[in-house]
Amino acid sequence: MRIVDIQDKIDHELLSHDQIMEKISEAAQQASEDYAGRVPLLVCVLKGAVNTLTAFSQAMSIPLEMDFMSLSSYGSGTSTSGKVTVRQDLSTDVRGRDVLIVEDIVDSGVTLSWLVNELKRRGAASVEIFALLEKPARHQVQLDVKYKGFVIPDEFVVGFGLDFDEEYRNLDSIAVLKPEVYEGELA
Ligand code: 5GP
Ligand code: MG
Ligand code: MG
Repeated sequence: MRIVDIQDKIDHELLSHDQIMEKISEAAQQASEDYAGRVPLLVCVLKGAVNTLTAFSQAMSIPLEMDFMSLSSYGSGTSTSGKVTVRQDLSTDVRGRDVLIVEDIVDSGVTLSWLVNELKRRGAASVEIFALLEKPARHQVQLDVKYKGFVIPDEFVVGFGLDFDEEYRNLDSIAVLKPEVYEGELA
């Protein structure tokens, strides 16, 4: 789905498909150099990071493995609850593995910081992060994101995997919805 398909719902486009793909490619090239000679385990945080994982893994030039984990810290609304629960766990034993977490966005950072600690607790040899988006204005915890995409303002965004109430994940760019879309949801 492209912006033109849902023009009536979109306030403005923040990042175009091409901008996103270029940035992901750069990060993937850097990661390919850093992990050369090893086989990293890419851990995709469902569901928002699926599109990012696809683009990122295809842009990497070394062998890798991937696995998926579903965490919840958000309800269907637009602000964090602070509590993290595992909805669906990895099927891979991370002991001794070089884990590279692939995330859509670091907002409060609560979810990712929990996950980093959990993977270390399980015995991962190393744990690094690629996050497509970061909202520094909302960070609540200190988090070391090694591979960075875009820094964005404190606005709720959708697209390229990110949803509002499960919609808009298949938008091929990243955009801000019109306020009435959210207000309609609250009414
Ligand atoms: P955290 O607050 O723990 O850093 O973020 C948890 C999750 O909230 C993110 O992985 C993402 O799924 C969701 N989230 C945070 N900010 C946004 C946003 O602007 N748009 C959307 N669609 N989801 C967000
Ligand atoms: Mg996420
Ligand atoms: Mg969501």
